[in-house]
Amino acid sequence: MKIPTKFKAVNLEWSVVDMPQEIADNNSAWGITYYDNARIEIRVDLNTSQREHTIFHELLHVIFNALGRDDLNKDEALLDAISGVQHQIEQTKRGNLHGKK
Ligand SMILES: [Zn+2]
Repeated sequence: MKIPTKFKAVNLEWSVVDMPQEIADNNSAWGITYYDNARIEIRVDLNTSQREHTIFHELLHVIFNALGRDDLNKDEALLDAISGVQHQIEQTKRGNLHGKK
């Protein structure tokens, strides 16, 4: 799958960028979402599958923050579980609902 570099959500234009090395050196997180400036950073030292999982995880932070659900937004295990299923769907999806190629 392609990880987006830009997308629009909740009336903001978000950017997805590589996590600066100095941030990665001082943080074990695979990704960080900055709500104030609509930016998601993803570690560069992850493999493709990990990067894909991370973007789904960070997008959930965007969604739950926008919904004002900080109770859900801080539940990292929940976000990992949901993003894991989303990633599985993305990796295994086939076909076209309308039968066109
Ligand atoms: Zn998280």
